[in-house]
Amino acid sequence: MKPVIGIPAYSVYGAPPGEARRYIISRSYVEAVRAAGGTVIALPASTDPEALRPAYTALAGLLLQGGGDVEAHRYGQADSGKLALVDPERDEAEMLLARWAVEDDLPVLAICRGVQVLNVALGGTLVQDIPSEVEGALVHSPGSAAPRGRPQHPVSVKAGSRLAGALGQGRPLGQLEVNSFHHQAVAEPAPSLEVVARAPDGVIEALERPDRSFVVGVQWHPEEMAASDPAQAALFAAFVAACARRRG
Ligand code: MN
Repeated sequence: MKPVIGIPAYSVYGAPPGEARRYIISRSYVEAVRAAGGTVIALPASTDPEALRPAYTALAGLLLQGGGDVEAHRYGQADSGKLALVDPERDEAEMLLARWAVEDDLPVLAICRGVQVLNVALGGTLVQDIPSEVEGALVHSPGSAAPRGRPQHPVSVKAGSRLAGALGQGRPLGQLEVNSFHHQAVAEPAPSLEVVARAPDGVIEALERPDRSFVVGVQWHPEEMAASDPAQAALFAAFVAACARRRG
C-alpha cells in the first residue's frame, strides 16, 4: 500500500461568476507525490475540527500547498494593505492540521504559503510584503507569466539539515537554484522551527523542526521543478519515504 498524503483543498469561486464554488488542489503537487510513490487524498477546508479529524487520522503525511496570504491577525499584526487572496476558512483548517501533524510527528512538507502557515501555526510571524518591507530584496515574485519551473534565485541550504539531506540524497548540494512565486516570507521563525535555507538577500527560504522526523517547509515550489531537477524530485522522495516509515 502506498502512503496516503493529505492535501488540504481550498475553495474558489468559479469563472464566470455564478458558476459553482469549488475546492481545488493544484495538479502539480499530486503529480509530484505520485511520482515519488505516494498517493493523495484531498481534505476540503473547514473551520470545524470534527469535519477534518476523521480524514486526518487516515494520513501518513500532510502536504500544505501554495496560495494566498495568511490573515495578519493570526500572527498578531494589523493588515498592512498589501495582503491578497486571504481565506479565513483555509487559514483555520490548515493551521489546525499543521498543529495536529507536528504534535503527532506526522511528516509534513509545507510549500510556499505552506511554510508560512506552518510558521504562523507554531507561533512565528511573516513579512507581509517583501518589496515594501525588505530593502535590497531580490525579485521573489516575477509574475504569473513566468514559467513555473524556471529558477529565479539561488538559496544556500544549511549543511547537515534534513532539507539538505533530502535534496542532496547524501551528496553535497553546492549552490541550489530555485523558482520563486511569493511576495511574503517568514519574518520571525516560530521558536521550535530552525531556518535551514536563505536567499542571498537574507529572505528565509526554508524551515524545519529538528525534533520531528520530517517537518520541512520551503518557500519555493519544488513540485514545479521536480520533473526537471533531480534535487527537487529527491525532496519529494524523502518526504514520501518518511510517510511510508510512519505508516509502517
Ligand atoms: Mn524566493
